[in-house]
Amino acid sequence: MNSLQEKIYNRFVRYVSVDTTSDPASTVTPTTSSQISFAHTLAQEMRSIGFTDVEVDEYGFVTGLLPANTDKKAPTIGFFAHMDTVCDYNGSNIRPQVHPNYDGGKITINAEKKMFLSPETDHNLKLCVGDDIVTADGNSLLAGDDKIGIATIMTLAEYLLAHPEIKHGPIKAAFTIDEETGTGIAYFDIKKFGADFAYTVDGATLGDIDCGNFNADTVTIRIIGKTCHPGSAKGFMANPVRIAADIVSSWPEDKLPETTEGEEGFVLFKDVEGGLDKAVLKGIVREHDLNKFEQFKKMLEELVAEKRRKYPAAKIEIEFKKQYRNMREILKERPQAMELLEEALRENHVQYRLTQARGGTDGAQMSLRGLPTPNIFAGYENPHGPYEWLSLGWVEKTFHVLESIAKNAVK
Ligand SMILES: [Zn+2]
Repeated sequence: MNSLQEKIYNRFVRYVSVDTTSDPASTVTPTTSSQISFAHTLAQEMRSIGFTDVEVDEYGFVTGLLPANTDKKAPTIGFFAHMDTVCDYNGSNIRPQVHPNYDGGKITINAEKKMFLSPETDHNLKLCVGDDIVTADGNSLLAGDDKIGIATIMTLAEYLLAHPEIKHGPIKAAFTIDEETGTGIAYFDIKKFGADFAYTVDGATLGDIDCGNFNADTVTIRIIGKTCHPGSAKGFMANPVRIAADIVSSWPEDKLPETTEGEEGFVLFKDVEGGLDKAVLKGIVREHDLNKFEQFKKMLEELVAEKRRKYPAAKIEIEFKKQYRNMREILKERPQAMELLEEALRENHVQYRLTQARGGTDGAQMSLRGLPTPNIFAGYENPHGPYEWLSLGWVEKTFHVLESIAKNAVK
């Protein structure tokens, strides 16, 4: 590994030695206290590098400023990475292993447990011949998601402070909590942070840019039935159990999670509860395109109207609640974040793909709250399990893309 990769890697090793697994069952913020103590460790390092205005807030969000080193006009840019790791797999005693100068063959994660990475199943390994690959040792996840993001941002800050000839505007860094539980970012104080736009460094494969996500609502259908003795029910009874089943099976089969992919949306009926007096059917509506999203909701309303006609003795109500919206529209309305990013990718010869996430992201939530935030690849693969790996070559590319963004923002 070269000296830049080594700097990032050494930080990464330090960060993953601390277990910061988040806990979706917890009702406090952050969901685990280890995140608070890790936040203070990061804050200390930021101060020692030369960040100013370093703060850890009551929830554990760490923020700091690299002041502008030019009088030229430049926007304030935010770089984000999250400090928690997912609870789906062991996140303690992580022992990273470097597999230097990858030769294109199999990589042994753990010989005893017969755990390997192979380019036949992990196709992206083929793109990394000659790189140093990092894995865990088969007993834990690697926590590249997203501690490599933190290590990259921290090393970039150190680099920029050591190279005052590289002119940049104000750069803010934020290391955030509870991304994996989806509950943290709602507590982040965007106004106080004061960036014009930002980037989460939390994507996977080299070149993957998330600049969109689903539009999302919940749907609740309440059915009030009309019940009596089944022996004399003819022409009288309205059975909510049967009506709920009828509604679920009437939804088109090609608009379900199990039959869609890519940019196709769906309705998922995920919960039904009830009996002869009443039933409640709950679901979620997901679609990238806002017009199609509204169409889906209209289809559901029409479906309910049809069942009202079919079962006149029952009372059926439908209600939607807003969850989140696609950040794509916001990134189009305020294009500076994507323009600078695409310029930086071209400058660093990264072949990139603008993708639409089939879920929500921290950046999507922040975009909706007024801070446009696309997601940049951080260089890891197979997150959330023991086969997670990262390429230090990819990580270096991320570093240079962020550097170009900082530089090119001064115009
Ligand atoms: Zn992540």
